[in-house]
Amino acid sequence: MEFTQAAKLQNVLYDIRGPVLDEAARMENEGHRILKLNIGNPAPFGFETPDEILVDFIRQAHVSQGYTDSKGIVAARRAVAQHYQTRGLPGLRLDDIYLGNGVSELIQLTAQALVNDGDEVLIPMPDYPLWTACVTLAGGTPVHYRLDEDDDWMPDLTDIADKVTPRTKAIVVINPNNPTGAVYTKENLQGIVDIARKHGLMILADEIYDKILYDDATHTSIASLAPDLFTITYNGLSKAYRVAGFRAGWMVLYGPKEHAKGFIEGLDMLSNMRLCANAPAQHVIPTALGGYQTINDLVAPGGRLREQRDVAYESLARIPGVSVNKAKGALYMFPKLDLDMYKIEDDEQFALGLLRQQKILITKGTGFNIPTHDHFRVVTLPDVDVLENAIDKIADYLEGIRR
Ligand code: PLP
Repeated sequence: MEFTQAAKLQNVLYDIRGPVLDEAARMENEGHRILKLNIGNPAPFGFETPDEILVDFIRQAHVSQGYTDSKGIVAARRAVAQHYQTRGLPGLRLDDIYLGNGVSELIQLTAQALVNDGDEVLIPMPDYPLWTACVTLAGGTPVHYRLDEDDDWMPDLTDIADKVTPRTKAIVVINPNNPTGAVYTKENLQGIVDIARKHGLMILADEIYDKILYDDATHTSIASLAPDLFTITYNGLSKAYRVAGFRAGWMVLYGPKEHAKGFIEGLDMLSNMRLCANAPAQHVIPTALGGYQTINDLVAPGGRLREQRDVAYESLARIPGVSVNKAKGALYMFPKLDLDMYKIEDDEQFALGLLRQQKILITKGTGFNIPTHDHFRVVTLPDVDVLENAIDKIADYLEGIRR
C-alpha cells in the first residue's frame, strides 16, 4: 500500500519545507555554518531563562510525574487569573483558563473546536502562519485582512469590514505583531472591536509578545476593550521568559458565554483528548508570572533586546532599496525590498541567494501569506555585533545584485 499525505493536509500552507530551508539543510550537512535569522527562539541566542524558573522546574519534577487536570494545575491557572486581574480582564474563573503545550497547541484546539467546513476566519496579512494553517486544517477558510505598512503596520479597518461575510466566525488579532513588530494603538483595537460587535464575531487575541515592548509602546489586551464580546486571549512563557522548549502556554475565555456553550464543550473534549499539557512546565507558571520580570530590563533603554532592535533598524534602513518600519515590540522586523533596483525576481530568489552567498537564513515574506513578493523577515535576537555584521552582509549581497 502506498501511504500518501492525508487529503486534509493538501491545502495547508506551513512553510517548514521549501527550497530555502532545504538548501540550508543541505549546506549544513556539508559543514557550512549558517546564521539563522529565521526563528524567534530566544535561548540559543544567549537569552537564558531566569534562574528561579529553572530551579523551580527541577524542584517540582517530583510532583510532576502524573497527568494533571486536562485544563492544567490549579496553582498555575490561579496565577494566570491573578495576572489578568490588573490587565483589564478581572474576575476570570479557573474554568475559563486552559493550559497548553505552548500557545501553538491551543490555537490548534480552538480552530478544531470552532470551525466547520467553509467557515471563514479573518487573519492578518502578513500573518503568523500557524493561524492560517490551523484554520485550513480544520476545514475553514482563512480570509486575510491587510496590515497597512504605510500606517506602521496597523490593521486596515476598512479592509476588515469589507471582508466580513455571513460565514465569518472570528477575527484573529496578533498584538504585538509577528512578523511586523507593530504594537497596535487603542483606537485601532477599538475599531476592530466595533466590527466584531457589529457582526457578532469571536475575537482570538494572540498576545504572546505582550511584554516585549520598546520605547513608549504600551500594550492593551483587546479583550479588555470588549467585555461584552466572547474573546479568547493566548499567551505563554516561550518569549518573555525564554523557555520556548518547555512548551508552556495558556488561553483565557472572557466575556459572555451563554451563546458559546457548544463551542466550549468542544474545547473541553479536545482538551481532555490531549490529556494535559507538559506538567513540569505548568508548575513554573506561578513562579514566572509572580517573579521579577527580567524581560523589562532587556527591553528598557540599554537593554540587550532594545539595543539589538535599534541596531537592526538602523542598519536595515541604511541599505539602498530597503525600507523598514521600526519595531515597537516583539522580536522581528519585516523590511521591504525595492525589486526594481535588484536583479532578482522575488523574495524567494533573494532568500536563496543570500543563503548561498552569505550563509544567512532569513524568512521570505510570502511565508507569511502576503500576496507581494518583496518582503523578508529578520529576527532581532543575535548579539549587536552579530546582527550588525549579518545586516552588513545583506547589504553587500544586495549591492552585488544591483541593476
Ligand atoms: N503566536 C505567535 C505570534 C508566535 O510568534 C509564536 C511563536 O513564534 C507562537 C504563537 C507560538 O508560541 P508557543 O511557543 O507558545 O507555541
